[in-house]
Amino acid sequence: MRLYSTLQRTKVDLPDPPGPIRMYFCGPTVYARAHIGNARPFVLGMWLRSWLRERGYDVKLVHNITDVNDKIYDAAPGESAELAERATQWYLEDTGDLGLGQPDELPKATEHVPGIVRFIEELVEGGFAYPAGGDVYFRIASFPAYGALSGRLDTEGARNPSEEEEQSELKEDARDFALWKAHKEGEDTSWDSPWGRGRPGWHIECSVMAEELLGPVFEIHGGGLDLVFPHHENELAQSRALGHDFAQIWTHNGMLRFTGEKMSKSLGNVVTIRDAIDTWGRETVLLFFMTAHWSKPIDFSEETMAQAAAQVETLRNKLRYPGEEGDSWDELVAALDDDFNTPDALAILHRWQDRDLIVRALGLFGLDSLAGEESAPPEIVKLAERREAAREAREFAESDQLRAEIDAHGWEVRDEPGGFRLVRKQ
Ligand SMILES: [Zn+2]
Repeated sequence: MRLYSTLQRTKVDLPDPPGPIRMYFCGPTVYARAHIGNARPFVLGMWLRSWLRERGYDVKLVHNITDVNDKIYDAAPGESAELAERATQWYLEDTGDLGLGQPDELPKATEHVPGIVRFIEELVEGGFAYPAGGDVYFRIASFPAYGALSGRLDTEGARNPSEEEEQSELKEDARDFALWKAHKEGEDTSWDSPWGRGRPGWHIECSVMAEELLGPVFEIHGGGLDLVFPHHENELAQSRALGHDFAQIWTHNGMLRFTGEKMSKSLGNVVTIRDAIDTWGRETVLLFFMTAHWSKPIDFSEETMAQAAAQVETLRNKLRYPGEEGDSWDELVAALDDDFNTPDALAILHRWQDRDLIVRALGLFGLDSLAGEESAPPEIVKLAERREAAREAREFAESDQLRAEIDAHGWEVRDEPGGFRLVRKQ
C-alpha cells in the first residue's frame, strides 16, 4: 500500500502489515454546525482506517476537536466554552449520521493543556521559543528546516498568518508564531502557566495531542490542503525542533468547491454536513466523496449530487439483479493499494456482477446498506400513516386515493398485522 505524501512529494510505501499504522487527522474548530467540506477529511480518515484493517493492519485513528480558539470566542462572547461543548455534540451527531462509526480517539484541546504547557517549556529551554509579554512564540530562525513541508522557504519576512496578528510587535521575527497566548479581557477560558494565565495557540495543540496519543513518531497525518501552511508546517517545526520525528506521510485532501449556479451563488459556504445528509441522504453523500481522488478538488453542486444519487440507484439495482460470480477482489486491491483511488474502485464496482464481492466492497465505504431493503423517504411514510388512519376511520375513498399517491411515487404500501410496510416498486 502506498499513499501520496506532501512532504516527500511522491507516493510513499507503508510498512508491511500489521504495521502498526498510527494516523492523526486534524478535526474541526467547533463553533457552528460543520460545513460539508469538513466531512472530507473525516470520511477519508474513516475509509482509510477501514481499508487498512481489511488489509491486515493494526490501525489507530486520532481526530482532534479544537475547542478553544479566537473563532469560538468571537462567536459566543463570554460563553465560548458552552458553545464549544454544544458544537462538539453537533459534530459528533452529524459525522455519526454518515454511518462510518467514530475515530478511535477524539481528543479535545482543552483537556490537554498540562501537556501543552510542558511541551512549550521544553521548546523554551531548547532555545526554540521565547516568552514575550505573557505570550510565548516559536523562534523560526532557530529551526533551519522550516518550510520543508509547504516548500515556503522564503525568508523575506513573510508573516505567519496563523490566527490573529495582535501583539505582533512582541515577536522577534514576523514569521514567528504563537505557542501560548496571554489571557485577554472578555475571554471566558484560561489556564495557569509559567508565563501567566492564558491559553494554547492552535498549532501546538495538534503536536501535543498527536504525540500523547500516538507517540513521537507515527505513520500518517491528514487534513485539508488549506492546512499545509502554516498549521502543519508549524506542527512539524515544533515537534522536530525537539528531535521527535513526528508524522512520516502527510495526506492532504483536496478542497471541496461549490460549483453550479445555485451552490456558488446562494447556498455556497453555508451547506453543512447536516444539510447535505438531510437533503441527499447519507448514501449519496458518501458516494459523492468516492467520485474524486482524495488528493484532488471535488465539486459540490446540484448536478454532481444528482449524479451521485443516480449512481446509488444504479448500484442498488445491480444488487437486486446480480450476475455471475467470479469477479476478482485483487482488482479492487490494486486500485485502493495504489494511493487509495476511490474513483477507480467505484468504476470496478459498477463493472462487477458478483453480489457478495460488491457488498463486501461497499461495506468498506459504509455503503453495504445498498444491499438491504431501501427505507422509504419521510414524506412517503407520512402518506402511508395518513392512509392507515383513513382506513381505521373507514374512509375508504381517501385511503384509496392515498394509496394511488404513494404508488405514483414508486412505492407500494402493504398492509401487515399491526401496521404497514413500504416496498420500492420494481
Ligand atoms: Zn491540527
